[in-house]
Amino acid sequence: MTPPAARPYNFSAGPAAMPVEVLQQAAAEMLDWQGTGMSVMEMSHRGKAFMSICEAAERDLRELLEVPEHFRILFMQGGGLAENAIVPMNLSRGGAMDFIVTGSWSQKSAQEARKFGQIRIAASNEAEHHTTLPAPATWQLSDNAQYVHLCSNETIHGVEFQELPDLAALGSRAPLVIDFSSHVASRPVDWSRVGLAFGGAQKNLGPAGLTLVVVREDLLGHALPLCPSAFNYQTVADNASMYNTPPTYAIYMAGLTFQWLKRQTQGPATGIAAMEQRNIAKANLLYDFIDGSQLYLNKVARDCRSRMNIPFFLREESRNEAFLTGAQAAGLLQLKGHKSVGGMRASLYNAMPLAGVQALVDYMRDFEKTQA
Ligand SMILES: *Cc1c(COP(=O)(O)O)cnc(C)c1O
Repeated sequence: MTPPAARPYNFSAGPAAMPVEVLQQAAAEMLDWQGTGMSVMEMSHRGKAFMSICEAAERDLRELLEVPEHFRILFMQGGGLAENAIVPMNLSRGGAMDFIVTGSWSQKSAQEARKFGQIRIAASNEAEHHTTLPAPATWQLSDNAQYVHLCSNETIHGVEFQELPDLAALGSRAPLVIDFSSHVASRPVDWSRVGLAFGGAQKNLGPAGLTLVVVREDLLGHALPLCPSAFNYQTVADNASMYNTPPTYAIYMAGLTFQWLKRQTQGPATGIAAMEQRNIAKANLLYDFIDGSQLYLNKVARDCRSRMNIPFFLREESRNEAFLTGAQAAGLLQLKGHKSVGGMRASLYNAMPLAGVQALVDYMRDFEKTQA
């Protein structure tokens, strides 16, 4: 299939651009999925056709992310914010929880968890306005925490853990919970360091409506009595994510994205390894340009800059509107920064090709010239 000519490049932080091949395949299958005479939207979630779609999606994701057998993959609803409550309902056992606060999302997670037990902020970069990451050796981890939560990529502030902490080496027995909403499938995950990972699909996997949870089996079965059955990981796992009707169409779209990811190659690398190389090249292209320019500025410490979400500022803030209007006219969409940070933000998820980042850099260079 050939992509439509001159589709603009969409830098939205989420819901975000999807691979054009995935959208085209969904369009082609919209009225009749593989001779069934039904759209995927019209199928029973318990029927053979949808079950095969769902099983393939789970299998492909497990293969792509190299999820070990002792982890369960759950397809849920409610997004990352619902998981901020669902995780403590399932894992806190009413006890203590440690939070690493590195930006808006981990802050929100900590606030929500307060409803379910004692929370402790083990480390924070708030004093640095969320532009650094506290070194794991400095974290004040509790002896009795049921889990340690961190957001492995802070979508709004643009800080990303380049490596997950080894909690055992830091003297903690607690499992690590990561919110990987905005960089899932952009790089490999070291599952030996993770107890549970969750993420909304709408940044890097598919449309909104699907929430991915990957959880180590021994963490199932400890939900608080008040936990709704539909949000009890054990119940969801026992019913293969079909305790209630799952977000069928979003699962189908994510499944198409997983197949697309499996087809991607970059030199000898395939799948997630290929995406990681491309994502490094894309991020370097933009960061190098920003760092070398007189007009643009990124405030995040170099060793924790996100490959996915790149906030940047004009040294002359009064030009923001002109920058954004010109970008839109040049086919570069949704570059406005989050309101809490201001400026601009370019999100470079898997579906953004290098050519899109090059187009952005070309526009930024031209805009800078007009400011001289
Ligand atoms: C977008 C995002 C969320 C929120 O997800 P919702 O689906 O809106 O609940 C949570 N965490 C991170 C890191 C995000 O980027």
